[in-house]
Amino acid sequence: MPERFTVTTPIYYVNDVPHIGHAYNEVATDVLARWHRMRGDDTWMLTGTDEHGQKIMRTAAANGVSPQEWTDRLVETAWKPQLELLNIANDDFIRTTDERHKVGVRIFLERLKEAGYIYHGEFEGQYCVGCEEYKTANDLVPGTGEYEGQLVCAIHSRPIEIVREANYFFKLSEFGDRLLALYDERPDFVQPEHVRNEVRQFVKQGLNDLSISRNTFDWGIKVPWDETHVVYVWFDALLNYITANGYGVDEERFERRWPGVHIVGKDIARFHAVIWPAMQMAAGLPISEHVFGHGWLLVGGEKMSKSKATGIEPRQITEVFGVDAFRYYFSSAIAFGSDGSFSWEDLDARYHSELANGLGNLASRVIAMVHKYCDGVVPDVAADAELQALMADAVGRADSAIDTFAIHDAVDAAMAIVERLNGYITEQQPWVLAKDESQRERLGAVLATNVHGIGTAAILLAPVMPETAQKLWAAVGGEGEVSAQQIRRAHEWRGTGRVTTVPPLFPRIEQA
Ligand SMILES: [Zn+2]
Repeated sequence: MPERFTVTTPIYYVNDVPHIGHAYNEVATDVLARWHRMRGDDTWMLTGTDEHGQKIMRTAAANGVSPQEWTDRLVETAWKPQLELLNIANDDFIRTTDERHKVGVRIFLERLKEAGYIYHGEFEGQYCVGCEEYKTANDLVPGTGEYEGQLVCAIHSRPIEIVREANYFFKLSEFGDRLLALYDERPDFVQPEHVRNEVRQFVKQGLNDLSISRNTFDWGIKVPWDETHVVYVWFDALLNYITANGYGVDEERFERRWPGVHIVGKDIARFHAVIWPAMQMAAGLPISEHVFGHGWLLVGGEKMSKSKATGIEPRQITEVFGVDAFRYYFSSAIAFGSDGSFSWEDLDARYHSELANGLGNLASRVIAMVHKYCDGVVPDVAADAELQALMADAVGRADSAIDTFAIHDAVDAAMAIVERLNGYITEQQPWVLAKDESQRERLGAVLATNVHGIGTAAILLAPVMPETAQKLWAAVGGEGEVSAQQIRRAHEWRGTGRVTTVPPLFPRIEQA
């Protein structure tokens, strides 16, 4: 039986303009999914868009179209193209306006109501339309400029609205103890540690029931027993993870794909690690496997935001450096789980030192030498034992790093092979060996070791740089698709015994 690996990005808020913060999440999730596929795991990667709520209704109206037309347009012109641009191999894309999602949400609500976890109640609160969330006093700050003298949302810097509603409520307050028990019994449920502590602290303070419907606007999924209400967007959105996987309509599929792993920004970890597992408990579902809250991308010390000058579109980077370099940079430059700063200077420096001079140069030198000294035939001798051991070690380290979501460590392990091979060439000086007929065998071993090492690195880098890895793989005589290789045995690969040619992988980029 293969292991099962279902992994999700958050569903992206369709009104946002996709920026490298979203791309960071998409690439990381894709790398994990590709890695698991190369283990042979029964893998499923889900992504999608969050399309309901008052703010979307308002922007659609401002643009003179229906909300459905508005979200269709954004999905097709912004969100799906971003996935294609970044070479994301998601297996599914769910929209909260999909019929399958609406059906699943209604089934879920009915079951929760039957189980006694939903009631009708009165509520008055300070509501931020930007957040689609009621705010507590802690979430508000004094306004400035035109909002001087008012309290505003700390995230949106805009005044909150006092909303009085008779809504349906989910008895979230009943789940505090069970959630704390979950965090204790499964210490790896919320990762990394600092996010886990934050979530735990939040639950320990006591939970309030959650208002899960609205009746002041109608762009949403109607509450099945009361069509004057639509489902609160967060409640609606979280359910995508199961409605995409057959919940309530296809039990076989649901059992195969659920539970899954959620890769989210730490700012929404609370929704995923508190509300979502409580919802699953209430419905008697298996609880998600992990919630991993990654850090923020900072630009000039600030969290990336579309409304600030820090918003960078992925295309601005891929047009200069290429898609694989983009994927590599964001997978390796920042420890996954920590905040990290993006800078063009750092990207440029790593591109040239690690990719162009490190990996690209290694491949082109080795391929050229095999052609020059051996007519393109890889000498049929075993790789040097020291290097062979290093490769086996790198494969093991990279593979276990993936299990702790340490994507950056996995890339490091792969690149350690590249670095060692470059040092090895300098030490062994194959061009000197080639001048001495008595060193023929030694020359063969050095070249075979290099070819083998590049192939091993190509397999390990395939989840991160799919296209580059395929070119490297073909160049060293790998057969078929590099992505079809068994990643845990990357160091055991065998090829055709012939090198071909390697196209320029990382052309030098002149600074504008
Ligand atoms: Zn807000």
